Amino acid sequence: MQVKYLDLAQQFSNPKLWQQVQKQLEQAQFILGEAVSLFEQDFAKLCGSQYAIAVNSGHDALFLAMKALKIGQGDEVITAPNSFIASAGAIVATGAKPIFVDVAEDYNINPNLLEQAINKHTKAIMPVHLTGNPANMPMIMDIAKHHKLAVIEDAAQAVMATIEDQCVGAWGDAGCFSLHPLKNLNIGGDGGVITTNLPEINETLRLLRNHGLKNRDEIAFFGYNSRLDSVQAAIARFGLEHLAEITSTRREHAQLYDEGLQALTKCITFPPRNVSSHPVFHTYVIQVEEREALMRFLEKRGIESKIHYPIPIHLQTPCYNMGYRMGDFPVCERQAKKIVSLPVHQYLTKEQILYVINNIKEFYIDR
Ligand SMILES: *Cc1c(COP(=O)(O)O)cnc(C)c1O
Repeated sequence: MQVKYLDLAQQFSNPKLWQQVQKQLEQAQFILGEAVSLFEQDFAKLCGSQYAIAVNSGHDALFLAMKALKIGQGDEVITAPNSFIASAGAIVATGAKPIFVDVAEDYNINPNLLEQAINKHTKAIMPVHLTGNPANMPMIMDIAKHHKLAVIEDAAQAVMATIEDQCVGAWGDAGCFSLHPLKNLNIGGDGGVITTNLPEINETLRLLRNHGLKNRDEIAFFGYNSRLDSVQAAIARFGLEHLAEITSTRREHAQLYDEGLQALTKCITFPPRNVSSHPVFHTYVIQVEEREALMRFLEKRGIESKIHYPIPIHLQTPCYNMGYRMGDFPVCERQAKKIVSLPVHQYLTKEQILYVINNIKEFYIDR
């Protein structure tokens, strides 16, 4: 049996999807227009946000949100060191400095460590809802309000996840999502979305993504070209129709793993469970003993697994020059050595999940 980590080919070989693409191509409306606005309306509704602004990547969603919030040179933005590189990369792109704060056992920024990282340069907090599991937004929002800081949620992995019955992306000043092919809501290329409840941020973002143009010939300020293509917006809108089902399938797969691997609690740390939140399992991450040997064993059995992410951001070369060192964030560093992501995508069958479970059991018990 083969268990691929992802099955994009299956998703994109769908004639119903091609129909949507064809329709869009025939209309020859490629930049902005109705397809983009319709997707934005649907996405805002899904997140329970006032506005959604479609842009050309998750990185740009983060970057433009910070630009709209006037974050730049001389400012500091607090974020987690265990994310995909784009969280910190977007901060650096604005001219601001990323200030890392260690994560808790749930892989998300530890709110108890936030206050000691805040100083007069701090402008914002950027929690990352890693693996699709919401960060502690109630506590983060309290701290941000108290210190008058903006909150930019990196929700790239967590579309549709909720905490205290509110969607991620609807808590902070801006919520930033990615439509990259690897994400739960994905398109055939790069794309991103920003959600916000603030009318002035919505307006600024619409200008920022489109050269600053307020009409055909006049700009309000110099901006960027960061629009979501209309063809991709049609694909994204098609994806939205299936997102509830995709999400519930991923949750069912996670449940199967949780139950099937229970006998191994001595060698496996399971994904965190919190009664007030509903994660969406962008990744199903466990911590294991003998990780490299396990991954090789699974590979021999036809099972793909990945590591998200093997090198914490603060240990990347450019962060050395910012003064970060090994040992700065012990929880993140300890997790990075033991985490492994098992396949959890929506096209897996129950038999495939059970096959993965049985092979992991065989590795730890029967060997
Ligand atoms: C994927 C991802 C991004 C970046 O999204 P792109 O669309 O690839 O630019 C940012 N943050 C996190 C946590 C991600 O997983």
